[in-house]
Amino acid sequence: MPVCPKCEYEYVEGMAFCPDCGSALLPDDDYIKPEEWSEQNWEIVYTSSQEYEVEMIKNNLESAGIKAVVLSQKDRNYPAPGDFSVVKLLVRKEDVQDAVAFIQKVKNENIKEAETNGDE
Ligand SMILES: [Zn+2]
Repeated sequence: MPVCPKCEYEYVEGMAFCPDCGSALLPDDDYIKPEEWSEQNWEIVYTSSQEYEVEMIKNNLESAGIKAVVLSQKDRNYPAPGDFSVVKLLVRKEDVQDAVAFIQKVKNENIKEAETNGDE
């Protein structure tokens, strides 16, 4: 069910915008209520100025079973410390170590791929 990040109200499947305030609705598994946010202690594990790169890592983490959330400067509804010039990837505090190790592995694989490019 899509959720309005402003009204915190669920709408029927298939709707894209909130009829009350016009906000783009989020899939509810991407939506974290502010109170859940502080309870679950989300931490930044990766930042980049490239949103696609952060999205790629998020997808990798989620395929490994680690719930991750992308914060960009567009997401004003989320409490995000620090500056807004970069895209941030956050995971739950309990997943931080796994996520960091996983990101490191993904980055290393990308570097290897880049180095071996052109050898074929
Ligand atoms: Zn709304």
